Amino acid sequence: MLLENKKIAIVGGGPGGLTLARLLQLKGVAVKVYERDTNKAARIQGATLDLHYASGLKAIKTAGLLKAFKDNYRPGAEKGRVIDKHGNILFDEHAEVTTEDFDAEHFRPEIDRDALRNILLDALQPDTVVWDSQFVTMSPIGDAWKLEFKNGTTATADIVIGAEGANSNIRSFVTPVKPFYAGVVIVQGNVPDAATTIPDMHHLLQGGKIYAYGNERYLHVSSKGDGSIDFYMSSKKDENWWQNSGIDFSDRDQVCSWFKNEFPDWDQIWLSLVEHANLPLYLRPQYCMPLDKGWDTLFNLTLLGDAAHIMPPSGEGVNLAMLDALELSEYLTNGEFKDTQAAIASYEKEMQHRAASEARDAMDMTEWMHAEDAQTKFLQFFGSNT
Ligand SMILES: Cc1cc2nc3c(=O)[nH]c(=O)nc-3n(C[C@H](O)[C@H](O)[C@H](O)COP(=O)(O)OP(=O)(O)OC[C@H]3O[C@@H](n4cnc5c(N)ncnc54)[C@H](O)[C@@H]3O)c2cc1C
Repeated sequence: MLLENKKIAIVGGGPGGLTLARLLQLKGVAVKVYERDTNKAARIQGATLDLHYASGLKAIKTAGLLKAFKDNYRPGAEKGRVIDKHGNILFDEHAEVTTEDFDAEHFRPEIDRDALRNILLDALQPDTVVWDSQFVTMSPIGDAWKLEFKNGTTATADIVIGAEGANSNIRSFVTPVKPFYAGVVIVQGNVPDAATTIPDMHHLLQGGKIYAYGNERYLHVSSKGDGSIDFYMSSKKDENWWQNSGIDFSDRDQVCSWFKNEFPDWDQIWLSLVEHANLPLYLRPQYCMPLDKGWDTLFNLTLLGDAAHIMPPSGEGVNLAMLDALELSEYLTNGEFKDTQAAIASYEKEMQHRAASEARDAMDMTEWMHAEDAQTKFLQFFGSNT
């Protein structure tokens, strides 16, 4: 086996990195995950994720974790409503009966990000994850790498996998190409204990998702298993708007006046989100990695997930990351390649091809979601899928 007696360092314990660690351990590979979070209890920001049959769920099945997934996913959380800015329901999936069939291609079960991380963590051998290890840089030592972390510790590895997400530092060791700005900023927040703090929104949400469009803005609201509500408010902005706006997103009054200005004539029910959200709100300018050029494969370093192919959200990111992990683990362990260079080259070729296509779709989606007629388009999309 190509990885016999080799030490693998995965940097980043997100869904991609942890899936890879689990799959490699199932093949008897020595692997460590270096994760920036200080411990397992660190709370992960972000709405629920739906896993797809041919990617995320396929990786979960191959990792032997389908039962754990079934014990933790959130039936019904995938059901959505399209609501206009005045609060009128235009489309409602809650009336539809969903067949929960994990063997059906269309079934897209939702899971909270924390629950997914815990399933993967619990499946790893003890001490696989080295917490509080924020990668800073690395340097070659012969054919291996010496990694350095912010807390002053170091580690060595024969092969390094950069899985540290959108702002990957390891990316620059693989390619000089940088992601370009995708034109939108997402303002993200979370409202705890929604049934008590914002009962009207809680009721409207019905444990699922809400999609709202208007004024060239997009608002995505999503229930979480802990009783909180997550929201993304997205609009076209200059790349440095968030730095230059002068708005303090940790100040309630400033956040509320920003919202009223940004979403004029939207109903009070939307304002209630920022009135009760934990502060600060998070500002996420969106970037996209150009993947048409590729890069020269290295024999001891590669990337997966957002580190390899950050793109604006399109509902595919976590699925792509987990499929990357599945394919990379297979290519490195299936005995079909003469060396790690050949295995990584095949993985990167397919990964880049797949991600380039998804990135084009994600950029198209970002464009129409922030157009004047977005609500009409989205309703047509829903209609054509029912
Ligand atoms: C607003 C928004 C909404 C989204 N919605 C969806 C959705 O509905 N469906 C979907 O499939 N995808 C969605 N995505 C995309 C999805 O979140 C990502 O594609 C997915 O999380 C990528 O997984 P990953 O493992 O590659 O990286 P990440 O999930 O980003 O994990 C990276 C890990 O690396 C750690 N890390 C970061 N830097 C370092 C460092 N220097 N050293 C060590 N560790 C480090 C982080 O703490 C983290 O644990 C969304 C993204 C955004 C921004």
